[in-house]
Amino acid sequence: MCIFCSIIEGNIPSKKVYEDDEILAILDISQTTKGHTLVMPKKHYENFLEMPAEEFGRLMEKTKDIAARVVNNLHANGCNILINTNEVAGQTVMHTHVHIIPRYDENDSISIQFNENKLDLDEVLKQINQD
Ligand code: 5GP
Ligand code: ZN
Repeated sequence: MCIFCSIIEGNIPSKKVYEDDEILAILDISQTTKGHTLVMPKKHYENFLEMPAEEFGRLMEKTKDIAARVVNNLHANGCNILINTNEVAGQTVMHTHVHIIPRYDENDSISIQFNENKLDLDEVLKQINQD
């Protein structure tokens, strides 16, 4: 059983931010920034690409509500919403989850950087839209 399934089953303790029949939100143990929260479906899916769209939709709907509560009540100035998908993208727990990372200022303890690549956009579009 994966570590998040064990948390959902109550076999490993967690700090619950929100729970219903389908979804659990807990404080991330790392607290990358204050209030760092993980929102997950109770049903085990390795990643969101495996989830039926309706279930993913409900997960994101709830993520929006929880993020608003976390940001407002912790007086954050914004947040990053992050879903790491597969090892190459930094996923370490293979049970899909959405990170809510409240942001307090631009120099807080997380940095996300987009580097520029010179690619032929028409060629990229053609590849994405094939079939
Ligand atoms: P990933 O890298 O897969 O996107 O994120 C996994 C997250 O789960 C990490 O931020 C890590 O701190 C958190 N995490 C790992 N094990 C536990 C745990 O046992 N309890 C809690 N609350 N968070 C965990
Ligand atoms: Zn699991």
